[in-house]
Amino acid sequence: MSLRVYNTLARKKEKFVPREKGKVSMYVCGPTVYNYIHIGNARCYVAFDVIYRYLQHKGYDVTYVRNLTDIDDKIIKRANKEGLTTKEIADKYIKAFHKDMKNLGNRSSRIEPKATEHISEMIETINCLIRKGFAYEVDGDVFFEIQRFGDYGKLSGRTIEEMRAGERVDVDMKKRHPMDFALWKAAKSREPSWDSPWGKGRPGWHIECSVMSSKYLGMGFDIHGGGHDLIFPHHENEIAQAEACAGKVPFVKYWLHNGFVNIKEEKMAKSLGNVILVREILKEYDPNVLRMFFVSTHYRSPINYSEENLNAVASALERIKTVIHNINYLVESGAKTEQDDLGEKRFKEVVVGVESKFLEAMDDDFNTASALGVIFEFVKEMNFFLEKNQKNLSESAKCLLLEARDKLIGFMTVLGIELGVEKAVEELPDALIGIAEKIFGRTFEDKNEALKVLIEAREKARKDKDWAKADLIRDKLSAQYFVLKDTPQGCQIIFEGK
Ligand code: AMP
Ligand code: ZN
Repeated sequence: MSLRVYNTLARKKEKFVPREKGKVSMYVCGPTVYNYIHIGNARCYVAFDVIYRYLQHKGYDVTYVRNLTDIDDKIIKRANKEGLTTKEIADKYIKAFHKDMKNLGNRSSRIEPKATEHISEMIETINCLIRKGFAYEVDGDVFFEIQRFGDYGKLSGRTIEEMRAGERVDVDMKKRHPMDFALWKAAKSREPSWDSPWGKGRPGWHIECSVMSSKYLGMGFDIHGGGHDLIFPHHENEIAQAEACAGKVPFVKYWLHNGFVNIKEEKMAKSLGNVILVREILKEYDPNVLRMFFVSTHYRSPINYSEENLNAVASALERIKTVIHNINYLVESGAKTEQDDLGEKRFKEVVVGVESKFLEAMDDDFNTASALGVIFEFVKEMNFFLEKNQKNLSESAKCLLLEARDKLIGFMTVLGIELGVEKAVEELPDALIGIAEKIFGRTFEDKNEALKVLIEAREKARKDKDWAKADLIRDKLSAQYFVLKDTPQGCQIIFEGK
């Protein structure tokens, strides 16, 4: 089966055929950096991270672009409130955003353009739109004239009249039509501004995304994503700008939109004051639990945030971790015999067949909820086989269990739930690298690797009864807030943080 995606533009699922064989170009609207991100925003970035991971898993070379909106009314307001420059505000929240992304386990986008670094390209596009008769200037402001663009409304599926009824539109006497939108805003006092043919000013939000996406991905790129609320007006306007200027279609082949995170039946939104910040929730929950919560629902469906729902997925995740743990324990300690088939034939069929079931679920518009269904069915079979074989583990049963375990870990990695080291690298103390380098006398690339090697070495030292070495590693680690617990199933490491 090949990948099918729900395209908002077509209002149906379509076969995914990338513009260029083996390559995918993807743009996702990034944050406006004036505040910390909340769980609703996180859902969007996790949803597209899973899509990114899955496309990579299928072997595509994916160019993933996610922008940073670092100039906007909200940033200016915030800067004035805090007595900082807009750049200082943007830098502060970009740093926080990167930290949240890492802690959530999201892979970095390949390109992360900033709006303020693409002003000249935006001016060029606005000039093009004026030249072609799609835009007009009034007193230093430039507007896009929607009635000149025949396809306006094709993404949201609404007529101009319906859009007007659905939106609160500012009455602006400068505009030719109330739905015309700003491409360039004349500078007001105490606002950052750039020189342009229309005087000092700054770009509107919509022009940023169409200019930056087509600069890095060209016209007709594959996937454009964002939350459901961006369909109108943001993405509708992006299409109008890009297609009007280029004089050709399409700007984007597949438009993908994630559903909302709701809380108490309401959309989680900064403007409603009901947000829970990612940096707060991750103090209480493992990032994998939050990801599990997101992927347990299809990315387009709404999802209800509650502690109860998070706790439910936490225990589901525990079932997956436990089976991996039990396999590791049995494989290391289990008696090895050659003996009767204890359900091996049946289990082998399960292990061989599970991959195609997982792919089938994910190929159906990245249906992570069905994929998790496949995973839990697999875990059930793994537990069943483990139980049958735990007294007498044959060599072939052992291999089969390890193969099953690795497949399970692989599926979870596609969902971004990495079951190896539990904490994000960001949170591990830098001193880990120094400790590992001192003990092993070699250099280490990153903290994750250092931690892994330290843990394995301690396990090995304990097995070899080299207590001095085992204790040395434990002491060095606990000095860095890692608590080591020796359980019957082996060593468990809990990072308590500073
Ligand atoms: P914003 O900073 O409001 O532009 O949001 C950044 C991204 O998060 C956009 O793609 C939004 O559509 C998305 N988003 C905002 N709120 C929610 C929510 N409650 N649920 C899901 N996605 C959201
Ligand atoms: Zn955008």
